[in-house]
Amino acid sequence: MRARSQDHELTVTPEHRLEKGRRFTTVVRYDGAPRTQVDLSVPEEPLPYGWIHTDDGAVVVSEPEGSANWFPLNDHPTDKAAFTFVVTVPAGLEAISNGRLVGRRTHDHRTTWVWDAPDPMAPYLATATIGQFDLRSYRTAQGLRMYDAVDPDLYGEPVDPEDPASPTFGEIADASLARQGEILDFLSGQFGPYPFSTGGGIVDDAPDLFFALENQTRSIYPGSAFSDPVDGDLLVVHVNAHQWFGDSVALAEWKHMWLNEGFATYAEWLWGEREGLGTTQEVFDFFYGDIPADDPFWDVVIGDPGIPFLFNDAVYTRGAMTLQVLRNQVGDRDFFRILRTWAQRKAGGNGTTGQFIALAERISGEQLDALFDAWLFTPAKPALPTAMATGATARVPATAASAPRTPPAAATLLKRMSSGRR
Ligand SMILES: [Zn+2]
Repeated sequence: MRARSQDHELTVTPEHRLEKGRRFTTVVRYDGAPRTQVDLSVPEEPLPYGWIHTDDGAVVVSEPEGSANWFPLNDHPTDKAAFTFVVTVPAGLEAISNGRLVGRRTHDHRTTWVWDAPDPMAPYLATATIGQFDLRSYRTAQGLRMYDAVDPDLYGEPVDPEDPASPTFGEIADASLARQGEILDFLSGQFGPYPFSTGGGIVDDAPDLFFALENQTRSIYPGSAFSDPVDGDLLVVHVNAHQWFGDSVALAEWKHMWLNEGFATYAEWLWGEREGLGTTQEVFDFFYGDIPADDPFWDVVIGDPGIPFLFNDAVYTRGAMTLQVLRNQVGDRDFFRILRTWAQRKAGGNGTTGQFIALAERISGEQLDALFDAWLFTPAKPALPTAMATGATARVPATAASAPRTPPAAATLLKRMSSGRR
């Protein structure tokens, strides 16, 4: 095969006839210089993604379809594969990929890094991020092997240039990364066992990187995301929740994006409640009360948002609100059973909104199509079920009735809503 087409499919034309059902191996040789892509689907906010060049290498965040820019593949989340990365860089630079570090050898001023990622992975979650990093490997209290890589440039400047005593971005990132074990324990308690055999994060000083991405087992963050410790923790919670919802359970089609972003956002709400920042119901109440019915926020049909709205705030926030409404409808026990069963049954695979709704109906024994129609498929602000509107249901925490106008967690989350995609 010698052709490179413009689309995102890899076509292999075998020299010899292949027998049906027989395994075969193919080697694809290729070369090229990856370019930074720019997402123009929201014209006023051009967004670099894919292979983003930095001052000392590259940060590689390919959602949704940037991987074809650096390796040959079927660039679709349904074509999961195991990966081994062999990356050769000038000696002195680190090359960080997914999974476990199985080799590092320096020869003739070049270092070759070998990473093994055996779990099925949607190809957009692959990374080969290169630069100067402090790479730390350790185990969490639960024994999970972690690799964190932080750009040493991030320890230079205080987050508040007016206040030289303020911490650096690197220090805040370190503090949030140090909580990953605790965060993964917390999320495991909600969603079931962590789905992979390694974890960790990469924090790069990359001025052109404007979002964090849940690269499988190795989430990637812009250094600038760590200007505030509470925000930093919530972001780490968000991308780690994606290890369950987004990575292990990947999308069957991009239009189901709320299954990724609504769930990861709801994980932030759960963490906020655990940290005493306000209950999930208070956060729901805040957004519901704060966003008027004529706000374009409610026009986004998050069950099928369309390309320009794929990463719209509504997919995140209204997605999380949908889960809170579902929780109030079916009760805590069934709600968390739905989430855990979804994570477990679909582990390593792909899911659709229709399948999630069917599972929720099966577990709860309730007819839920009206709820999901209103929250996922209607371009309007849904009315609250009577029980929620009056706060009369026993499932709504007593504090919700007297919720402060601006609960702290909601304020934190709202502040970040305008900072967009993560
Ligand atoms: Zn996300």
